[in-house]
Amino acid sequence: MRSAVIADIHSNLEAFQAVLRDLEERGGADEIWCLGDIVGYGPDPHDCIKLLRQYRSACVAGNHDWAAIGKLDTSAFNPEAAAASQWTAGALTEEDADYLASLPLTLRQGDFTVVHGSPREPIWEYILSVQTAKANFGYFDSRYCLIGHSHSPLLFELDSKNSCRLHQLPEQLSLKTASRLIINCGSVGQPRDGDPRASYAIIDTEQESLWHYRVKYDFKFTQEKMLDADLPMCLVSRLSVGW
Ligand code: ZN
Repeated sequence: MRSAVIADIHSNLEAFQAVLRDLEERGGADEIWCLGDIVGYGPDPHDCIKLLRQYRSACVAGNHDWAAIGKLDTSAFNPEAAAASQWTAGALTEEDADYLASLPLTLRQGDFTVVHGSPREPIWEYILSVQTAKANFGYFDSRYCLIGHSHSPLLFELDSKNSCRLHQLPEQLSLKTASRLIINCGSVGQPRDGDPRASYAIIDTEQESLWHYRVKYDFKFTQEKMLDADLPMCLVSRLSVGW
């Protein structure tokens, strides 16, 4: 079984389409696992939801998905994120909102637990340190956990001696290891690791491997649409540099 792992699309249709094209060129996948934040920040929330729903997918909710449908108070958001969330709410159809409201917080897909932020706190918690990762290994019982939210491709490994280490996510990751892993495959629509290309992964459970890919897309076109929609300038400019 082949699964595409995509996270944090953030209403960026051009990045999402580029990832889907790249996926197709690599032989496609049986299913898309979507790790939340389909919407928020970008100019095409409706079209991104519509496109995702054309695929067989397993999807969890992210904080921006909840904020856009009023399920989460945006007072904890920074002003630009809150403004974008308000704009997003007005761009969703009733069917879009129902879809976002229906998404669970956690899914189990075979050996993988799938969440947006962390298994301990799926909506809000960022896993960026070894300390936070180590605590979170106690909150899921599968071998692997896939996370998004920080928009940074990272890998946390808990070995058989209970020692936790942080690695950059490699281009190819063997899943034949005895370690348990927390894996962040980066963000499709708003990368924050200094590389503006869209980030996603393919998992092949028969080959017991994960491949991490970066895909160029036309972010200038996305930025023009964001300017037309009067979305905050800092959200527009960050797409050029990937932060
Ligand atoms: Zn996000």
